[in-house]
Amino acid sequence: MKKTDVVVLGGLSGITAGISCRRHYPEKKVILIRKEGTVLIPCGIPYIFGTVGGPENNVVPDGLLEKNGIELVTDEAINLDREKKVVTLKNHEPIQYEKLVFATGSLPLVPPIPGVNKENVFSVRKEFDYLKELLKKVDKAKDIVIIGGGFIGVEFADECRKNRDVNITVVEMMDRCLQLALDNEYCDEARAKLEETGVKVLTNEKVVSINGKEDAVESVELASGKEIKADLVILGIGAIPNSKLAEKSGLELGFRKGIKVDRLMRSYTDKNIFACGDCCTKESFFDGKPSGIMLASVATSEARIAGANLFSPVHHNCGVISVFATVINGRAFGVAGLTERDLKKNGMNIVIGEAAAADTHPGGMPNSTMLKVKLIFAKDTGIILGGAVSGGKSTGEMVNVLSACILHRMTANDIAVFQMGTHPALTSSPIAYPIVNAACKAVLSIKG
Ligand SMILES: Cc1cc2nc3c(=O)[nH]c(=O)nc-3n(C[C@H](O)[C@H](O)[C@H](O)COP(=O)(O)OP(=O)(O)OC[C@H]3O[C@@H](n4cnc5c(N)ncnc54)[C@H](O)[C@@H]3O)c2cc1C
Repeated sequence: MKKTDVVVLGGLSGITAGISCRRHYPEKKVILIRKEGTVLIPCGIPYIFGTVGGPENNVVPDGLLEKNGIELVTDEAINLDREKKVVTLKNHEPIQYEKLVFATGSLPLVPPIPGVNKENVFSVRKEFDYLKELLKKVDKAKDIVIIGGGFIGVEFADECRKNRDVNITVVEMMDRCLQLALDNEYCDEARAKLEETGVKVLTNEKVVSINGKEDAVESVELASGKEIKADLVILGIGAIPNSKLAEKSGLELGFRKGIKVDRLMRSYTDKNIFACGDCCTKESFFDGKPSGIMLASVATSEARIAGANLFSPVHHNCGVISVFATVINGRAFGVAGLTERDLKKNGMNIVIGEAAAADTHPGGMPNSTMLKVKLIFAKDTGIILGGAVSGGKSTGEMVNVLSACILHRMTANDIAVFQMGTHPALTSSPIAYPIVNAACKAVLSIKG
């Protein structure tokens, strides 16, 4: 039997946990076990179907493991004996560990609707060969229906339409696409950008069956009675924690069957087992309530914490802020923290500051884009609770700045006097910097 100090099970957050462990404990031997020969960049999956051209162009380099002295075993962990501290693998000898990290991720949700098992119905699995097959199907398809208008569904629609003569329809059950992430005005702007490309968007519509003779997909039927022609269906309706092996080994599960962890990312049940990423439970940064958010930003932060804490506590997990960005037909949309919709639903007394400015100065510079910023503060304390941005490439980094403001519970006052670095070709003007200006407006509203 092979022996090691640390076994990590998984991909993206597994690599991060392994690197973090080696950074803090360079003397420890780390083995990463993962099912796939190749790990795809999960967030890059939609771009396989357009911008990057194939799964082979969307890969996390294994050089990272070698560089950090982590041994890779490509195999599936099929059993865990916690008493003997042994992981059994499908094709290799068992491995005995001192500490183990679950980073087994999530599995796509597949709704129990008639026809969902037909040949041309695909979920979004993070598997190289599966996605290669899906790419071939997308290339041949005439009528694609995407079920789910969250960021995965919308990104798939935008990428699949690129350089193809294909009809694409997104079917969303809620009032708006991206509604779980963005406020209404941003959802509407995103929808308009998507529709500009010719993609059809149907909201307030629920798919009840996928129809066609035998294994073929011919149409999708909606609860409203509408029928949409389809020869390929892609499911983008969310994911659930992949915690079966953990459950089988007796680890306690929590919200949505995630592996229950504490703030050190240690499992509740076994002090030698940690978990991070989509497979474990999460709590909101804002109120400590269970959170179902699954994002790479959260997964890798948790992985850094888990890896560092394996042999002695270094970091604490502060909970999910939820920061992410997407791009639709060239326009970027980003969000950090809570939305106006969420806060109002919870009866919070809030103040909103909004501002817009070109992302260069003068705005006539080549490739200049109009940035729109919305900041949301608690009225009583002035503390920032959320923010949204739409604009160009800088959107992604601007919401990261907002995430830092949220983490440090900055107030509208703090942000109004924030010293933002500017440059004509790189940022908005220092006079009109939209994050600062939105905060200045909120300061006035808070003063009443
Ligand atoms: C299409 C798509 C787009 C996304 N875009 C974004 C984005 O833009 N921004 C963002 O923040 N997030 C995005 N996400 C979410 C993000 O990808 C996930 O939160 C992230 O991948 C979670 O990482 P993880 O390591 O926890 O799990 P995963 O990435 O799911 O990795 C888990 C790994 O564990 C392996 N594994 C599982 N069981 C075993 C076992 N028994 N033995 C060995 N190996 C095992 C799996 O095969 C897999 O390789 C996106 C997700 C998808 C699907």
